[in-house]
Amino acid sequence: MSKLLVFLLVLFVIYWVRRVLSKPKIPPGSGSRPGAQRGGETQASTRMLSCQRCGVHVPESEGVRYGGEFFCCEAHARGRDDS
Ligand SMILES: [Zn+2]
Repeated sequence: MSKLLVFLLVLFVIYWVRRVLSKPKIPPGSGSRPGAQRGGETQASTRMLSCQRCGVHVPESEGVRYGGEFFCCEAHARGRDDS
């Protein structure tokens, strides 16, 4: 009788171990970025930044970064205050 209980226990342990081991394996592509499903994280690349020369707010993807500062266009990024 005790052998049957041990046998059932072993089966249960094997089933439990397989279940635990298969759980963390999320299909690749969907769980690579934690927090991506919460929404709003995808808008981080289109945040508005102000031009260091004229002060106009431009989406970060459309602006120009030069010397660690952000500008609305290449003309403002290259141009200097010599006018
Ligand atoms: Zn500008």
